[in-house]
Amino acid sequence: MSSSPVSAMFSPDATAAIVSAEESPSSPLDLPLLGQSLAQLQAWVVQQGQPAYRGKQLHQWIYAQGARSLTDITVFSKAWRATVADVPLGRSELHLRSVAPDGTVKYLLRLADGHIIEAVGIPTAKRLTVCVSSQVGCPMACDFCATGKGGFARNLATHEIVDQVLTVQEDFGQRVSNIVFMGMGEPLLNTDSVVAAIRCLNGDVGISQRAITLSTVGIPGRIRQLAEQHLQVTLAVSLHASNQGLREQLIPSARAYPLTALLTECRDYVAVTGRRVSFEYILLAGLNDLPEHAGELADLVGGFQSHVNLIPYNPISEVDYQRPSDYDIQDFAEALRERHVAVSVRYSRGLEKDAACGQLRATKLAAAG
Ligand code: SF4
Repeated sequence: MSSSPVSAMFSPDATAAIVSAEESPSSPLDLPLLGQSLAQLQAWVVQQGQPAYRGKQLHQWIYAQGARSLTDITVFSKAWRATVADVPLGRSELHLRSVAPDGTVKYLLRLADGHIIEAVGIPTAKRLTVCVSSQVGCPMACDFCATGKGGFARNLATHEIVDQVLTVQEDFGQRVSNIVFMGMGEPLLNTDSVVAAIRCLNGDVGISQRAITLSTVGIPGRIRQLAEQHLQVTLAVSLHASNQGLREQLIPSARAYPLTALLTECRDYVAVTGRRVSFEYILLAGLNDLPEHAGELADLVGGFQSHVNLIPYNPISEVDYQRPSDYDIQDFAEALRERHVAVSVRYSRGLEKDAACGQLRATKLAAAG
């Protein structure tokens, strides 16, 4: 059981931070080519005085051949490459690569303005999943989260999100099958870039929308806006509590977004998209894993297309929450099943290597002083 005083979990500046995140500009880079569609790339090469078929070659080299600069694209003439050598493609630089015993690979990537973000490649027998970040840091200040402890810098631009997927794909030398927006940041505070990245990853990189999961703690009105995009992605809502009071302790922004309103938007999402909603629930020993919490959770999510993912807490150094025992985890899952809730238990991969959200970046930034 956590001994953290409840009052210490609240951030009085949370609302102001969210507003500032929404107003934050995306990357200052001028027209990176990564993130552009085939039609946009064709229009760009024509604007540069080249034939339109060069746009198709450019598209192929950016999304399939791993070009990191226009000078890499050897099918273009040396003379033209020299004239466009300074046009940014939009790729990041690898700052650090860390491999866990289970094969999970964590990447720290340096952006053009020097910010560092984290991406994770998670291989299984049949899949390669990439966990991507949507912001540099995060303003939501969830109490159990390493990223939330580190503050917020800015939103990521579309190309900076797509780059994370290409980086993992190139490093593993195999196609990425799944993408989860569960890294640093709250995706629905950066909806335009995130939706554009999803369309690019689907249309240009070739990853099915159904293999993409967007995870959010919930921003009022944004789930409904996402539904209006008519994407086929999976919406994963980070619930983490079975009642409003407990949720406010863990997620400061929840004070402005009652559970009833959040669940109404989730029901609307199912109605508009026909896609079930996943509810993420981090199990914190003695805090939200008791039998009464299982009952409350079943009441909340019962009655519409949904699935609950239980995530046993992965300890971070800054706070003293505890991970429940395996016995308590299975008990909680069983209590939900008895109430006819579809439930899975998901263990973090790469536990030994700073597996918590944003933890590798937090560790390295702290070490750098
Ligand atoms: S859990 Fe997600 S939304 Fe909350 S602080 Fe961490 S990154 Fe942000």
